[in-house]
Amino acid sequence: MSVEPAIPSPVPSDFIRDIIAADVATNRYAKIVTRFPPEPNGYLHIGHAKSICLNFGIARENHGQCNLRFDDTNPAKEEIAYVDSITTDVQWLISGWADHCLGYKPKGASPALQTIDGKPDYFIAPVGLSTLNSQLSASPSEPFSASSYFDQLYEYALILIKKGKAYVCDLSPEDTDSYRGSPDKPGKDSPFRTRSVEENLDLFTRMKAGEFPNGTRSLRAKIDMAAPNIWLRDPLLYRIRHTAHHHTGDKWCLYPLYDYAHCLSDYLEGITHSICTLEFVDHRPLYDWILANLDLPRALPHQYEFAKLNLGYTIVSKRKLLQLVNEKLVTGWDDPRMPTLSGLRRRGIPASAIRQFVTSVGVTKFDSLTEVAVFENAVRTELNGLAQRRLAVLKPIKLVLTNIPAGEIIECTATNNPQEENPTTRPIALTREVFIESDDFAEVPPPKYFRLKPGGEVRLKYACIIKLDEIVKDATGAVTELRCTADLTTRAGGINVEKKVKGTIHWVSATHCIDAEVRLYDRLFNVAEPAAELDFLRVVNPKSLEVITAKLEASLASATPADRFQFERLGYFALDKDSPLLPSASQLSALSSQFPGKLIFNRTISLKDTWAK
Ligand code: ATP
Ligand code: MG
Repeated sequence: MSVEPAIPSPVPSDFIRDIIAADVATNRYAKIVTRFPPEPNGYLHIGHAKSICLNFGIARENHGQCNLRFDDTNPAKEEIAYVDSITTDVQWLISGWADHCLGYKPKGASPALQTIDGKPDYFIAPVGLSTLNSQLSASPSEPFSASSYFDQLYEYALILIKKGKAYVCDLSPEDTDSYRGSPDKPGKDSPFRTRSVEENLDLFTRMKAGEFPNGTRSLRAKIDMAAPNIWLRDPLLYRIRHTAHHHTGDKWCLYPLYDYAHCLSDYLEGITHSICTLEFVDHRPLYDWILANLDLPRALPHQYEFAKLNLGYTIVSKRKLLQLVNEKLVTGWDDPRMPTLSGLRRRGIPASAIRQFVTSVGVTKFDSLTEVAVFENAVRTELNGLAQRRLAVLKPIKLVLTNIPAGEIIECTATNNPQEENPTTRPIALTREVFIESDDFAEVPPPKYFRLKPGGEVRLKYACIIKLDEIVKDATGAVTELRCTADLTTRAGGINVEKKVKGTIHWVSATHCIDAEVRLYDRLFNVAEPAAELDFLRVVNPKSLEVITAKLEASLASATPADRFQFERLGYFALDKDSPLLPSASQLSALSSQFPGKLIFNRTISLKDTWAK
């Protein structure tokens, strides 16, 4: 695995990195610690990649650390399967780039009690970053999770109650909402706001003990019901939920709300810069209020907000992506048409292309829509450097080279990747029967048609020039075979190798090829902003998947899932995870006919933007 240099050049620059650079310059913190805090209620998507690359990128550029933390405070929507997929996706995206910055905790650990300046404090230390990689496989470490702080969060709530900063409120959820008012109408104090500390402590303890049904009581911060910022109008800190949690089981029936859990989780982990998206700007005063009112002894984390990534022709919302899965408009979260990291990975998009793209779009304070062509071009650029060139024919038509005897094999030499400094080559077999792309032939050619036409000449790439002599048709008039003469003097090393023709086409030998299923993808949506539609499910592109059987050059039988290919003139391709197990060496030499099960390739992306006007 290649490891990229720790400090990229040029170093990305944006307003968040400027703030951090200033904090580093003044030694405000001993170490820069960020976090990526997904809620395990769906799979990660390309938008999350932006946040991951920002948080891990900052850690990487500052010799810091970025914790993967599950923000798992809502037991109703969260599942262990999502925890696993998110962990895999984050590791994949940062692999070879920022793994050395990944903050994990010792397995099963929760924050330890310590004393700082005579004050009790809780802190959860990560496993040593230097040993992290070797430990990952032995799995004595794991991602952080807010649910492992439930005990400490409860202790902090008791402190707020004792300080008169929080109270138990018996308003129903509906009344709580209506008492809160609206941005232009001040809220109204809850009748329970003046409860004594003793009564609050008693009720809160009994809430934890499970004495009260869902929705009957909540714990609220006592701030200001007339505050212009609605988030400061006595926000909820805890609510009753008699629901088991994927991590803590039946231990709790009282769960903290995001705003309360998040700032304290940041503090417990020693986060310095808590970076989130713009919708949390109004929550920031509450983030600061909670931390400030607990008299915490260590340096406090600070929240900074940036604009979400929105990508054309794409949905970046776990909730909406779940709808696509549930409505069976895609085959699952990792359908290669999905903008999920697992879908993009399965499609063959390298992590490096995603990192390059999300970094290149920059970090701003204004919402905007990034054109999907920008992403697609990043994928093409990356794959152009990585991909091995191969010959394949997607929609084959048979072509007979009448002057080559059956059974004869003429070995030709093909270049694997012209982008490499010293490109390697491989042998390919030219035989009497080959397949060419049916699109590369026209019986009645339009003007300036340089591919195969009656009486015309083209070059078969890496082989020789051929001339079309005869078109064979069946009883219905459909073309079944093209009969041509090969000019073998135009081969590499031949006396007429310099002879020029206007068209060069790709081909495979009909006897030295394998059949494969090829899945061709188009954009999943027909409109640039599906999320802006009344019903985004109605703008799903019904032609986003086409499945064909293609003819591939025989060497592709030994393709592995890690390989990236360019099928010349057709696009970039990679094996799908549904593809059958790799054949053994003996099966390989026996070639296509004995081959068990068809390989399945995904077209990652075409060579050109076919949507551009
Ligand atoms: P979704 O709407 O898809 O559920 P979310 O924000 O609710 O997204 P979280 O699991 O809470 O999902 O997100 C984890 C982190 O990723 C958060 O810090 C969030 O701000 C960030 N994030 C989510 N979507 C985007 C996006 N489109 N662009 C950049 N960052 C994002
Ligand atoms: Mg969220």
